[in-house]
Amino acid sequence: MAISEVAPFAKTGGLADVGGALPLALSKLGCQVRIVMPFYNRFVEELAAADPVVENMPVELGSQVIDTDVYRGQLNDTIEVYFIRRDEFFDRTYLYGTPKGDYFDNFQRFTYFCKAALSLCRAVQFQPDIVHCHDWQSGLIPAYLKHLVAAEDHLAATVSMFTIHNIAYQGQFAAKLFPQTGLPGRFFSVDGMEFWGGINFMKAAIVCADIITTVSPRYSEEIQTKEYGQKLEGVLQMHHHKLHGIINGANYEEWNPESDPYIAANYSRENLEGKYMCKLDLLRTVKLPERLMNRPLLGVISRLADQKGFDLLAAVMDKFMAHDLGLVILGIGEDKYHTMLAAFAERYPEKIAVRLEFDERLAHKIEAGADMFLMPSRYEPCGLNQMYSLRYGTVPIVRATGGLYDTITPFNPTKGKGVGFRFTSYEPESFWHATKAALDLFPQTETWRQIMKNGMAMDFSWLSSAQQYLKLYEKTVAKKKRAGGSKQQAGGSKPQADDTRQRGKA
Ligand code: ADP
Repeated sequence: MAISEVAPFAKTGGLADVGGALPLALSKLGCQVRIVMPFYNRFVEELAAADPVVENMPVELGSQVIDTDVYRGQLNDTIEVYFIRRDEFFDRTYLYGTPKGDYFDNFQRFTYFCKAALSLCRAVQFQPDIVHCHDWQSGLIPAYLKHLVAAEDHLAATVSMFTIHNIAYQGQFAAKLFPQTGLPGRFFSVDGMEFWGGINFMKAAIVCADIITTVSPRYSEEIQTKEYGQKLEGVLQMHHHKLHGIINGANYEEWNPESDPYIAANYSRENLEGKYMCKLDLLRTVKLPERLMNRPLLGVISRLADQKGFDLLAAVMDKFMAHDLGLVILGIGEDKYHTMLAAFAERYPEKIAVRLEFDERLAHKIEAGADMFLMPSRYEPCGLNQMYSLRYGTVPIVRATGGLYDTITPFNPTKGKGVGFRFTSYEPESFWHATKAALDLFPQTETWRQIMKNGMAMDFSWLSSAQQYLKLYEKTVAKKKRAGGSKQQAGGSKPQADDTRQRGKA
């Protein structure tokens, strides 16, 4: 796995949750997984071994050769994690940029990371059957495997999978940087990584990877349309035969109200009593009045980005506030949303609490203490918080897009089935309509409990997602072997010996 964030080492969003959970689920299925990620000092220092496992590994970046040290750590005592260390690139306050914008040298940082990840395989004599890359930060790896690996190379038989976690972040840079990638000149073309006159890491990966996945079946369809494709829809349509949607799992070891150490009282589907303690604790923590105990309490935990629907929330805020309810928002991101949310909190201090920070503990308290959870996303590749909300009996109100569509079935009062509330068109009215339906049902205690319990019974554990990944790994590796074998037979030489079995599954 080549991935730029892995919980608990570094996290800005759902990508890190996947990085921290999928390898473990795969290893339970018998895969041998190793992870490579950047050494972000601030996060990694205490978790990695003190001494490097590889020293002075040469990594080419344009005309430079950068000596690189690699450190090793462990995920859950089972999976080896390699950290590529280059402090001038990765020892920063943030992972990709400040609230004001991206770091100026992201091209160099992640080109270097991709190169280093492959050099590492050679340095530690690791011959993976498959390199599974995630998002644009590791997007050049499939291109390197396809274009820079010679037939006799250590990695010649290695296949690549690329997972799109969010197509809005593509890694686009100026064309003049292309030579620094080290890729052949012909790759700067419409069939390669050229994109509207510049270069695009995600496009490089889509074109070159042996197989592409994205994090929900619905999103795999959406990104092939103009509305969601962010200008890559045409490329994805061309490569649709290798595109699959696999929903992310939820990490129930971390997100389980029965054992969660961060919340005021543990509770379960069978015994919900603790949830009321959690609500009281949340109100106290964020300093909202305790009289809201009898009113609906709505929660939001989110990156503050355009994707997440805060413009819709702003448009309906006055309607929300005309009702007697509480709203707790935890988020960090773009300045404009910081300003906007802080202003709402100031205007409605008795009803709205806003925390503009990254706070894991408070995130758990909100999942446990809120009655409803809002995700009015413009788009949502998978979304994790709606799955956590279900497990915590916190009823999700979501826009029917991507993974939200795939995981939240609307409650049907006649049948007593369904787990949340959904709206389709990205309009304040539709969002309000769905929320109003939830607010109207909330006082009907029996029905509300039914919705909560329906949600708590859902199971989105990683096992079934990991099984689907494993199937795709096996299929792709087998396909490459067949193609390699038949090419060689056509050329008259002997088929290669099957040596992959000795190397573990992935
Ligand atoms: P995305 O990856 O688009 O940010 P997801 O719903 O897939 O959205 O994942 C978000 C993850 O990040 C969740 O685990 C959520 O709890 C966490 N998260 C987001 N913002 C914060 C925050 N301010 N404080 C704590 N956790 C946060």
